[in-house]
Amino acid sequence: MIIVVLHYISNIMATIDIPDKICSHCGGIRWKTEYRKSTKNPENKILIYRCSVKAGESYSKWRLQNLEKAKKYNIELCRIRRANGHYKTSKEKERNKQKAKKESDTLCDNYIYRIIFSSVDRKSLNRSNVPQELIDIKRKQLLLTRQLKQLTK
Ligand SMILES: [Zn+2]
Repeated sequence: MIIVVLHYISNIMATIDIPDKICSHCGGIRWKTEYRKSTKNPENKILIYRCSVKAGESYSKWRLQNLEKAKKYNIELCRIRRANGHYKTSKEKERNKQKAKKESDTLCDNYIYRIIFSSVDRKSLNRSNVPQELIDIKRKQLLLTRQLKQLTK
């Protein structure tokens, strides 16, 4: 049990809003990031994005069928998180939120990289493979999508 929970915590990175990455399933922009072992090379960890809504739904379904387990799981999760300082203060949360907003507002290179990486199979792609030209094109594409969205509101 504890190993499962520890595994869970060490693999869940964060829940983040990516306004330019829209879920085709629910139209949401909130994503859970998580590290998974690469199937090609188990030494490698790859960052994957799961729709937060979908992840929540499948957890709720599981919880209903495993109420006792879920209860224990939650208690254990809280305990480990507290022990490891995983709980962010509201100040830290606010800071992260501000940072995410700033990145999305300015469309900085880091943000564009993340968008590109989140939509491709990144097993064979790394940052140095992505030329600056492509980053600039992607930035323009995002701007266009945003403007079209504004116009068709
Ligand atoms: Zn979704």
